[in-house]
Amino acid sequence: MFKKILVANRGEIAVRVIRACKELGIPTVAVYSEGDAESLHKKLADESVCIGPAQSAKSYLVIDNIINAAQQTGADAIHPGYGYLSENSEFARTCEQNDLVFIGPSAQTIDDSGDKINAKRLMRAAGVPLIPSSEGGVNTVEDAISVACEIGFPVMIKASGGGGGRGIRICEDEASLREEFPVARSEARIACGNDEVFVEKCIVKPRHIEFQILADQHGNTIHLGERECSVQRRFQKLIEEAPSTALTPQLRTEMGRAAVAAAEAVNYCNAGTVEFLLDQDKNFYFIEINSRIQVEHPVTEMVTGLDLIKEQIRIAAGGALDYTYEDLPTRGWAIECRINAENPDFNFMPSPGTLTTFHAPSGFGVRMDTHLYQGYALPIYYDSMIAKLITFGPTREAAIQTMRRALDELDVSPLKTTKSLHREIMDDDEFIRGKIHTGYILKFVPEEEDDDED
Ligand code: ADP
Ligand code: ADP
Ligand code: MG
Repeated sequence: MFKKILVANRGEIAVRVIRACKELGIPTVAVYSEGDAESLHKKLADESVCIGPAQSAKSYLVIDNIINAAQQTGADAIHPGYGYLSENSEFARTCEQNDLVFIGPSAQTIDDSGDKINAKRLMRAAGVPLIPSSEGGVNTVEDAISVACEIGFPVMIKASGGGGGRGIRICEDEASLREEFPVARSEARIACGNDEVFVEKCIVKPRHIEFQILADQHGNTIHLGERECSVQRRFQKLIEEAPSTALTPQLRTEMGRAAVAAAEAVNYCNAGTVEFLLDQDKNFYFIEINSRIQVEHPVTEMVTGLDLIKEQIRIAAGGALDYTYEDLPTRGWAIECRINAENPDFNFMPSPGTLTTFHAPSGFGVRMDTHLYQGYALPIYYDSMIAKLITFGPTREAAIQTMRRALDELDVSPLKTTKSLHREIMDDDEFIRGKIHTGYILKFVPEEEDDDED
């Protein structure tokens, strides 16, 4: 096992990883920016190293500073969390070159799955169902139009290097494709540092269903069932649950098999996620592989009883998977609400501030993963997600009922958060009946102009 783990992240996921390490008896090193000097992850870790100014580009994204911090403190492994350097193959490679274990897949796997066009190519060869799209990257509007005419409108322009919902545009017809193509390219260039885009058929009112994957260094690849993440705003998840109301045991088996094949096609090792869209006729299609732990991993943990962060660490240390999904006593239902410090009544404007009150809901069936504490001043530099509220119960109905009372208890005054929107959704008849798709949120939130917030 590792002697000491450095956590190359901040916020709730850094806290989550530090907690798992403590339970495993492994000392931890936090890295923090000058803007995070009062952060919970820094306070909870055994040691901490300042790696630069508040701006992520000068701290959390600087590979050399993180490697230096690991060497200086004698860490022998690095957990990258999600976002930041977690899907950066150069970081994974640099860790390896410095005798540091990167707790995640190989640099080659990160490269193979990070580029969506390339990933689709590998999936085609592996027989995983794909959404019709351009063969590879599309360079001109005319090419985009000819692909769209072939596969049929509506289409989506997607950035090959995209993530977090960036660089995605829906085009209903040729005129909108002409208009959006250059916009999508420039957004891709700014957000992903790579302006390669492709054109894909737009599935109408799909569900987002993803499978958690675990793979060890001994050739075992398993899935841990699905998560449904159809409640999204601007292609970003807001509510996730496990299992999904849309899957039958047979469909779960089929999709699970495809997910394992997808992971094997990129020689996956460690924890990852294979994302699919499910159309209204219950056909499923691969969309991408996320080569890291995901934000919504807790819902899988609650229904499987596994600690996925500990599994990541155990796998990275050479441990073997000696169970399959079928062996696990999966039970009940889990739902996660992402609590963002944003004002849903004001176009989701960020709402930073100092917490004068902090009350975290608790009690039977409630889990909250957060880096908040009373008196904490939320820095303005980072992601607006401040907490993940997770509830679980024997049935979906029970998990929803627990979520209602948990949301009512949550108090993070004076911050404005997405709590009120979540509370409304928990009372919505369609949500309660599981009648959701990726455009579901539009009934609560009017479609806004694409004014890029960042
Ligand atoms: P998940 O599928 O785990 O929910 P998300 O796509 O929401 O993951 O991304 C997780 C975090 O990483 C978010 O904070 C998101 O903003 C960030 N992120 C993911 N990919 C990128 C990317 N390519 N560029 C910038 N941020 C990203
Ligand atoms: P990202 O890397 O930003 O997470 P994804 O390819 O995973 O991008 O897509 C994010 C979301 O965009 C999906 O969950 C879904 O809501 C929507 N989406 C992506 N591709 C399609 C498609 N072909 N048709 C309809 N919706 C799509
Ligand atoms: Mg995705």
